[in-house]
Amino acid sequence: MRLNELRLRDFRNYRETALTWDPDVNLIVGDNAQGKTNLLEAIAYLGAGRSFRTQKSGELVRFGQEFADLEAQVFSQQRQQSVRAVIFARGRPRQLYRNGVKKKTAAELAGVLPTVLFCPEDLLVLKSGAAPRRRLGDNVLCQLRPNYDAALGEYTRLLEQKSRILKDRFENPALVELLPEYNLRLCQVGALLISYRARFFESLGQEAARFHGQFSGGAEDFALEYHTVSTVTDRMAPMSQITAQLQAHMEAHARAELDSAQCLTGPHKDDFDVTLSGLSLKSFGSQGQVRTAAISLKLAQRELMRREMGEEPVLLLDDVLSELDAGRQDFVLNQIVSGQVFITCCEPGRFTRLGTTIRITQGGVEK
Ligand code: ATP
Ligand code: MG
Repeated sequence: MRLNELRLRDFRNYRETALTWDPDVNLIVGDNAQGKTNLLEAIAYLGAGRSFRTQKSGELVRFGQEFADLEAQVFSQQRQQSVRAVIFARGRPRQLYRNGVKKKTAAELAGVLPTVLFCPEDLLVLKSGAAPRRRLGDNVLCQLRPNYDAALGEYTRLLEQKSRILKDRFENPALVELLPEYNLRLCQVGALLISYRARFFESLGQEAARFHGQFSGGAEDFALEYHTVSTVTDRMAPMSQITAQLQAHMEAHARAELDSAQCLTGPHKDDFDVTLSGLSLKSFGSQGQVRTAAISLKLAQRELMRREMGEEPVLLLDDVLSELDAGRQDFVLNQIVSGQVFITCCEPGRFTRLGTTIRITQGGVEK
Protein backbone atom coordinates (compact mmCIF):
# COMPACT_ATOMS: atom_id res chain seq x y z
CA MET A 1 0.00 0.00 0.00
CA ARG A 2 1.08 3.56 -0.45
CA LEU A 3 0.04 6.94 0.91
CA ASN A 4 0.07 9.43 -1.96
CA GLU A 5 -1.41 12.60 -0.51
CA LEU A 6 -2.33 13.98 2.86
CA ARG A 7 -4.44 17.07 3.37
CA LEU A 8 -4.79 18.64 6.81
CA ARG A 9 -6.95 21.46 8.01
CA ASP A 10 -6.74 22.72 11.59
CA PHE A 11 -5.21 19.48 12.82
CA ARG A 12 -2.91 20.14 15.82
CA ASN A 13 -0.58 23.01 14.77
CA TYR A 14 -1.36 22.66 11.03
CA ARG A 15 -3.57 25.35 9.58
CA GLU A 16 -3.99 24.20 5.99
CA THR A 17 -1.51 21.78 4.44
CA ALA A 18 -1.45 19.45 1.48
CA LEU A 19 1.45 17.06 1.00
CA THR A 20 2.39 14.54 -1.64
CA TRP A 21 4.63 11.71 -0.49
CA ASP A 22 7.50 9.67 -1.79
CA PRO A 23 6.43 6.02 -2.31
CA ASP A 24 9.59 4.89 -0.49
CA VAL A 25 11.31 6.77 2.30
CA ASN A 26 10.10 10.15 3.59
CA LEU A 27 12.33 11.93 6.03
CA ILE A 28 10.47 14.52 8.11
CA VAL A 29 12.99 16.90 9.59
CA GLY A 30 12.59 19.86 11.93
CA ASP A 31 13.43 21.33 15.33
CA ASN A 32 11.53 20.28 18.42
CA ALA A 33 7.83 21.14 18.73
CA GLN A 34 7.41 22.03 15.04
CA GLY A 35 4.84 19.35 14.17
CA LYS A 36 6.77 16.24 13.05
CA THR A 37 4.99 13.82 15.37
CA ASN A 38 1.70 15.59 14.65
CA LEU A 39 2.09 14.59 11.02
CA LEU A 40 2.61 10.91 11.90
CA GLU A 41 -0.32 11.15 14.29
CA ALA A 42 -2.53 12.37 11.44
CA ILE A 43 -1.50 9.43 9.23
CA ALA A 44 -2.04 6.93 12.04
CA TYR A 45 -5.40 8.52 12.92
CA LEU A 46 -6.65 8.00 9.40
CA GLY A 47 -5.38 4.42 9.53
CA ALA A 48 -6.96 3.39 12.80
CA GLY A 49 -9.66 5.99 13.47
CA ARG A 50 -7.97 6.94 16.72
CA SER A 51 -4.92 8.76 17.99
CA PHE A 52 -1.92 6.99 19.49
CA ARG A 53 -1.33 9.99 21.75
CA THR A 54 -4.67 10.91 23.25
CA GLN A 55 -8.14 9.60 23.90
CA LYS A 56 -9.53 13.13 23.92
CA SER A 57 -10.11 13.82 20.26
CA GLY A 58 -10.82 17.51 20.97
CA GLU A 59 -7.09 17.95 21.60
CA LEU A 60 -6.44 17.19 17.95
CA VAL A 61 -8.26 20.30 16.77
CA ARG A 62 -6.07 23.39 16.36
CA PHE A 63 -6.46 25.67 19.35
CA GLY A 64 -9.39 28.06 18.90
CA GLN A 65 -10.91 26.19 15.94
CA GLU A 66 -14.13 24.21 15.85
CA PHE A 67 -13.09 21.18 13.87
CA ALA A 68 -10.18 19.48 12.14
CA ASP A 69 -10.50 17.91 8.71
CA LEU A 70 -7.95 15.38 7.46
CA GLU A 71 -7.93 13.29 4.34
CA ALA A 72 -5.54 10.82 2.71
CA GLN A 73 -5.39 9.54 -0.84
CA VAL A 74 -3.97 6.06 -0.84
CA PHE A 75 -3.36 3.18 -3.18
CA SER A 76 -4.33 -0.01 -1.37
CA GLN A 77 -6.31 -3.18 -1.98
CA GLN A 78 -5.46 -2.76 -5.69
CA ARG A 79 -7.16 0.59 -6.08
CA GLN A 80 -7.14 4.31 -5.34
CA GLN A 81 -8.97 5.00 -2.11
CA SER A 82 -9.55 7.89 0.22
CA VAL A 83 -10.07 8.09 3.93
CA ARG A 84 -11.21 11.20 5.72
CA ALA A 85 -11.88 12.23 9.31
CA VAL A 86 -13.64 15.30 10.64
CA ILE A 87 -12.92 15.81 14.33
CA PHE A 88 -14.82 18.30 16.45
CA ALA A 89 -13.33 20.34 19.28
CA ARG A 90 -16.35 19.69 21.47
CA GLY A 91 -19.85 18.37 21.60
CA ARG A 92 -19.97 16.12 18.54
CA PRO A 93 -18.56 12.69 17.74
CA ARG A 94 -15.99 12.54 14.97
CA GLN A 95 -17.02 11.55 11.46
CA LEU A 96 -15.18 8.99 9.36
CA TYR A 97 -15.42 8.51 5.60
CA ARG A 98 -14.09 5.77 3.39
CA ASN A 99 -14.13 6.63 -0.32
CA GLY A 100 -16.58 9.42 0.43
CA VAL A 101 -19.03 7.16 2.27
CA LYS A 102 -19.69 7.89 5.92
CA LYS A 103 -18.77 5.05 8.29
CA LYS A 104 -20.06 4.45 11.79
CA THR A 105 -17.03 2.77 13.34
CA ALA A 106 -13.26 2.82 13.05
CA ALA A 107 -13.41 -0.91 12.32
CA GLU A 108 -14.93 -0.09 8.94
CA LEU A 109 -11.71 1.68 7.92
CA ALA A 110 -9.67 -1.49 8.43
CA GLY A 111 -7.23 -2.28 5.65
CA VAL A 112 -7.34 1.04 3.78
CA LEU A 113 -4.31 2.61 5.44
CA PRO A 114 -2.58 0.11 7.72
CA THR A 115 0.20 1.62 9.83
CA VAL A 116 2.87 0.45 12.22
CA LEU A 117 4.16 3.13 14.57
CA PHE A 118 7.53 2.82 16.23
CA CYS A 119 8.50 5.45 18.80
CA PRO A 120 11.11 5.70 21.55
CA GLU A 121 8.66 4.54 24.25
CA ASP A 122 8.24 1.31 22.31
CA LEU A 123 11.91 0.56 22.90
CA LEU A 124 11.09 0.24 26.59
CA VAL A 125 7.82 -1.63 26.15
CA LEU A 126 9.26 -4.82 27.60
CA LYS A 127 10.34 -3.07 30.81
CA SER A 128 7.36 -0.75 31.29
CA GLY A 129 3.99 -1.34 32.96
CA ALA A 130 1.52 -3.70 31.28
CA ALA A 131 -0.70 -1.07 29.62
CA PRO A 132 1.67 -0.25 26.71
CA ARG A 133 2.11 -3.97 25.99
CA ARG A 134 -1.66 -4.45 25.86
CA ARG A 135 -1.89 -1.41 23.56
CA LEU A 136 0.70 -2.93 21.24
CA GLY A 137 -1.39 -6.08 20.80
CA ASP A 138 -4.68 -4.20 20.59
CA ASN A 139 -3.34 -1.83 17.97
CA VAL A 140 -2.42 -4.60 15.55
CA LEU A 141 -5.47 -6.75 16.25
CA CYS A 142 -7.83 -3.81 15.76
CA GLN A 143 -6.29 -3.13 12.37
CA LEU A 144 -6.32 -6.78 11.32
CA ARG A 145 -9.63 -7.94 12.76
CA PRO A 146 -12.63 -5.60 12.62
CA ASN A 147 -14.52 -8.01 14.91
CA TYR A 148 -11.80 -7.68 17.51
CA ASP A 149 -12.00 -3.89 17.28
CA ALA A 150 -15.77 -4.02 17.84
CA ALA A 151 -15.42 -6.50 20.74
CA LEU A 152 -12.74 -4.40 22.41
CA GLY A 153 -14.98 -1.34 22.13
CA GLU A 154 -17.86 -3.22 23.73
CA TYR A 155 -15.64 -4.66 26.48
CA THR A 156 -14.28 -1.19 27.34
CA ARG A 157 -17.79 0.26 27.55
CA LEU A 158 -19.04 -2.61 29.73
CA LEU A 159 -16.06 -2.24 32.00
CA GLU A 160 -16.69 1.48 32.45
CA GLN A 161 -20.33 0.83 33.26
CA LYS A 162 -19.50 -1.91 35.73
CA SER A 163 -16.92 0.34 37.43
CA ARG A 164 -19.54 3.03 37.79
CA ILE A 165 -21.98 0.54 39.33
CA LEU A 166 -19.34 -0.65 41.80
CA LYS A 167 -18.60 2.93 42.84
CA ASP A 168 -22.19 4.19 42.97
CA ARG A 169 -23.64 1.21 44.80
CA PHE A 170 -22.72 2.66 48.20
CA GLU A 171 -25.26 5.41 47.57
CA ASN A 172 -27.66 3.28 45.57
CA PRO A 173 -27.52 -0.39 46.72
CA ALA A 174 -30.15 -1.50 44.18
CA LEU A 175 -27.55 -1.10 41.44
CA VAL A 176 -25.92 -4.37 42.52
CA GLU A 177 -28.80 -6.22 40.90
CA LEU A 178 -27.51 -5.11 37.51
CA LEU A 179 -24.13 -6.75 38.02
CA PRO A 180 -24.90 -10.35 36.91
CA GLU A 181 -25.98 -9.13 33.49
CA TYR A 182 -22.81 -7.06 33.03
CA ASN A 183 -20.63 -9.86 34.36
CA LEU A 184 -22.02 -12.41 31.93
CA ARG A 185 -21.51 -10.15 28.93
CA LEU A 186 -18.00 -9.18 30.11
CA CYS A 187 -17.08 -12.87 30.29
CA GLN A 188 -18.53 -13.59 26.85
CA VAL A 189 -16.80 -10.66 25.15
CA GLY A 190 -13.67 -11.24 27.27
CA ALA A 191 -13.47 -14.83 26.00
CA LEU A 192 -13.49 -13.54 22.45
CA LEU A 193 -10.65 -11.11 23.20
CA ILE A 194 -8.57 -13.86 24.82
CA SER A 195 -9.14 -16.18 21.92
CA TYR A 196 -7.94 -13.57 19.39
CA ARG A 197 -5.01 -12.54 21.57
CA ALA A 198 -3.81 -16.10 22.13
CA ARG A 199 -3.55 -16.71 18.38
CA PHE A 200 -2.06 -13.32 17.68
CA PHE A 201 0.63 -13.49 20.38
CA GLU A 202 1.62 -16.95 19.24
CA SER A 203 2.26 -15.72 15.68
CA LEU A 204 3.89 -12.52 16.90
CA GLY A 205 6.24 -14.51 19.14
CA GLN A 206 7.28 -16.83 16.33
CA GLU A 207 7.93 -13.99 13.93
CA ALA A 208 9.79 -11.88 16.50
CA ALA A 209 11.95 -14.88 17.42
CA ARG A 210 13.03 -15.09 13.79
CA PHE A 211 14.07 -11.41 13.70
CA HIS A 212 15.76 -11.68 17.07
CA GLY A 213 17.68 -14.72 15.87
CA GLN A 214 19.05 -12.77 12.89
CA PHE A 215 19.80 -9.83 15.12
CA SER A 216 21.66 -11.69 17.84
CA GLY A 217 23.29 -14.18 15.51
CA GLY A 218 21.17 -16.94 17.04
CA ALA A 219 22.89 -16.57 20.40
CA GLU A 220 19.68 -16.05 22.37
CA ASP A 221 16.49 -18.04 22.37
CA PHE A 222 13.55 -15.59 22.14
CA ALA A 223 10.13 -16.63 23.46
CA LEU A 224 6.95 -14.65 24.02
CA GLU A 225 4.49 -15.70 26.69
CA TYR A 226 0.95 -14.38 26.84
CA HIS A 227 -0.57 -14.08 30.32
CA THR A 228 -4.29 -13.93 30.93
CA VAL A 229 -6.82 -14.76 33.66
CA SER A 230 -5.42 -17.66 35.70
CA THR A 231 -8.48 -19.90 35.49
CA VAL A 232 -8.25 -20.08 31.68
CA THR A 233 -6.44 -23.36 31.16
CA ASP A 234 -6.53 -23.51 27.36
CA ARG A 235 -6.69 -20.22 25.45
CA MET A 236 -7.41 -22.05 22.21
CA ALA A 237 -10.45 -23.79 23.73
CA PRO A 238 -13.98 -23.11 22.44
CA MET A 239 -15.43 -19.78 23.51
CA SER A 240 -17.99 -21.39 25.84
CA GLN A 241 -15.23 -23.01 27.90
CA ILE A 242 -13.24 -19.79 28.22
CA THR A 243 -16.41 -17.90 29.15
CA ALA A 244 -17.18 -20.39 31.93
CA GLN A 245 -13.63 -20.18 33.26
CA LEU A 246 -13.76 -16.38 33.27
CA GLN A 247 -17.04 -16.57 35.17
CA ALA A 248 -15.47 -18.85 37.76
CA HIS A 249 -12.64 -16.35 38.31
CA MET A 250 -15.10 -13.50 38.53
CA GLU A 251 -17.26 -15.29 41.07
CA ALA A 252 -14.23 -16.03 43.20
CA HIS A 253 -13.45 -12.29 43.22
CA ALA A 254 -16.99 -10.95 43.54
CA ARG A 255 -16.61 -9.99 47.20
CA ALA A 256 -13.25 -8.29 46.59
CA GLU A 257 -14.70 -6.34 43.67
CA LEU A 258 -17.57 -5.05 45.80
CA ASP A 259 -15.23 -4.12 48.65
CA SER A 260 -12.64 -2.39 46.50
CA ALA A 261 -15.17 -0.95 44.02
CA GLN A 262 -12.83 -2.03 41.20
CA CYS A 263 -13.03 -4.48 38.31
CA LEU A 264 -10.39 -6.94 39.42
CA THR A 265 -10.87 -9.80 37.00
CA GLY A 266 -10.86 -10.11 33.23
CA PRO A 267 -8.62 -9.70 30.18
CA HIS A 268 -8.22 -5.95 30.77
CA LYS A 269 -5.37 -7.13 33.04
CA ASP A 270 -3.71 -9.25 30.33
CA ASP A 271 0.00 -8.96 29.70
CA PHE A 272 2.87 -10.65 27.94
CA ASP A 273 6.51 -11.19 28.73
CA VAL A 274 9.50 -12.01 26.60
CA THR A 275 12.17 -14.40 27.77
CA LEU A 276 15.65 -14.74 26.29
CA SER A 277 17.05 -18.20 26.80
CA GLY A 278 14.51 -18.65 29.59
CA LEU A 279 15.23 -15.40 31.47
CA SER A 280 12.48 -12.79 31.77
CA LEU A 281 13.44 -9.55 30.05
CA LYS A 282 11.24 -7.57 32.40
CA SER A 283 13.28 -8.73 35.38
CA PHE A 284 16.72 -9.44 33.96
CA GLY A 285 17.05 -7.77 30.55
CA SER A 286 19.96 -5.42 29.88
CA GLN A 287 19.27 -2.12 28.10
CA GLY A 288 20.58 -3.53 24.85
CA GLN A 289 18.61 -6.77 25.11
CA VAL A 290 15.38 -4.91 25.87
CA ARG A 291 15.86 -2.65 22.85
CA THR A 292 16.82 -5.43 20.48
CA ALA A 293 13.81 -7.49 21.53
CA ALA A 294 11.53 -4.45 21.11
CA ILE A 295 12.83 -3.89 17.58
CA SER A 296 12.22 -7.56 16.80
CA LEU A 297 8.65 -7.23 18.06
CA LYS A 298 8.00 -4.18 15.89
CA LEU A 299 9.42 -5.78 12.77
CA ALA A 300 7.34 -8.87 13.54
CA GLN A 301 4.24 -6.75 13.85
CA ARG A 302 4.87 -5.27 10.42
CA GLU A 303 5.58 -8.69 8.94
CA LEU A 304 2.33 -10.17 10.33
CA MET A 305 0.31 -7.29 8.97
CA ARG A 306 1.97 -7.61 5.60
CA ARG A 307 1.24 -11.33 5.50
CA GLU A 308 -2.35 -11.11 6.66
CA MET A 309 -3.35 -8.11 4.60
CA GLY A 310 -1.40 -9.02 1.51
CA GLU A 311 0.21 -5.61 1.49
CA GLU A 312 2.80 -3.65 3.29
CA PRO A 313 1.65 -1.36 6.10
CA VAL A 314 3.14 2.12 6.22
CA LEU A 315 5.93 2.29 8.78
CA LEU A 316 6.04 5.38 10.99
CA LEU A 317 9.36 5.79 12.78
CA ASP A 318 8.99 8.64 15.24
CA ASP A 319 12.42 9.76 16.47
CA VAL A 320 13.38 6.17 17.03
CA LEU A 321 16.51 5.94 14.88
CA SER A 322 18.29 8.67 16.82
CA GLU A 323 17.75 6.56 19.96
CA LEU A 324 19.64 3.61 18.51
CA ASP A 325 23.34 2.90 18.11
CA ALA A 326 24.69 2.51 14.57
CA GLY A 327 24.44 -1.29 14.58
CA ARG A 328 20.77 -1.27 15.55
CA GLN A 329 20.00 1.58 13.15
CA ASP A 330 21.47 -0.45 10.32
CA PHE A 331 19.53 -3.54 11.32
CA VAL A 332 16.26 -1.62 11.24
CA LEU A 333 17.10 0.15 7.97
CA ASN A 334 18.18 -3.08 6.29
CA GLN A 335 14.88 -4.69 7.28
CA ILE A 336 12.77 -1.95 5.72
CA VAL A 337 14.02 -2.09 2.18
CA SER A 338 10.46 -2.48 0.90
CA GLY A 339 7.34 -0.48 1.60
CA GLN A 340 6.70 3.15 2.45
CA VAL A 341 8.38 4.64 5.50
CA PHE A 342 8.01 7.94 7.33
CA ILE A 343 10.95 8.85 9.54
CA THR A 344 10.99 11.87 11.81
CA CYS A 345 14.17 13.29 13.28
CA CYS A 346 15.71 16.59 14.34
CA GLU A 347 19.11 15.99 12.79
CA PRO A 348 18.93 14.00 9.56
CA GLY A 349 22.71 13.44 9.54
CA ARG A 350 23.52 10.26 7.73
CA PHE A 351 19.86 9.51 6.94
CA THR A 352 19.41 12.18 4.25
CA ARG A 353 20.54 9.81 1.54
CA LEU A 354 17.63 7.46 2.36
CA GLY A 355 14.87 9.30 0.52
CA THR A 356 12.92 12.53 0.14
CA THR A 357 13.37 15.07 2.90
CA ILE A 358 10.72 17.55 3.97
CA ARG A 359 11.38 20.22 6.56
CA ILE A 360 8.70 21.24 9.04
CA THR A 361 8.61 24.64 10.71
CA GLN A 362 5.70 25.53 13.01
CA GLY A 363 3.13 23.48 11.19
CA GLY A 364 4.41 24.60 7.80
CA VAL A 365 6.23 22.52 5.22
CA GLU A 366 9.21 23.18 2.94
CA LYS A 367 10.26 20.59 0.40
P1 ATP B 1 9.83 16.88 18.91
O1 ATP B 1 11.02 16.92 18.03
O2 ATP B 1 10.09 17.57 20.20
O3 ATP B 1 9.24 15.53 19.07
P2 ATP B 1 7.70 17.54 17.06
O4 ATP B 1 8.11 18.29 15.85
O5 ATP B 1 7.45 16.09 16.93
O6 ATP B 1 8.74 17.83 18.23
P3 ATP B 1 4.92 17.79 17.65
O7 ATP B 1 4.71 16.94 18.83
O8 ATP B 1 4.53 17.26 16.33
O9 ATP B 1 6.44 18.27 17.64
O10 ATP B 1 4.18 19.19 17.78
C1 ATP B 1 4.15 19.81 18.99
C2 ATP B 1 3.57 21.18 18.83
O11 ATP B 1 2.23 21.14 18.40
C3 ATP B 1 3.63 21.83 20.18
O12 ATP B 1 4.26 23.08 20.07
C4 ATP B 1 2.18 21.97 20.55
O13 ATP B 1 1.92 23.12 21.28
C5 ATP B 1 1.49 22.02 19.21
N1 ATP B 1 0.10 21.55 19.32
C6 ATP B 1 -0.33 20.39 19.83
N2 ATP B 1 -1.67 20.30 19.79
C7 ATP B 1 -2.09 21.46 19.25
C8 ATP B 1 -3.38 21.98 18.94
N3 ATP B 1 -4.49 21.29 19.21
N4 ATP B 1 -3.43 23.21 18.38
C9 ATP B 1 -2.31 23.91 18.12
N5 ATP B 1 -1.08 23.47 18.39
C10 ATP B 1 -0.96 22.26 18.94
MG1 MG C 1 8.01 14.45 18.04
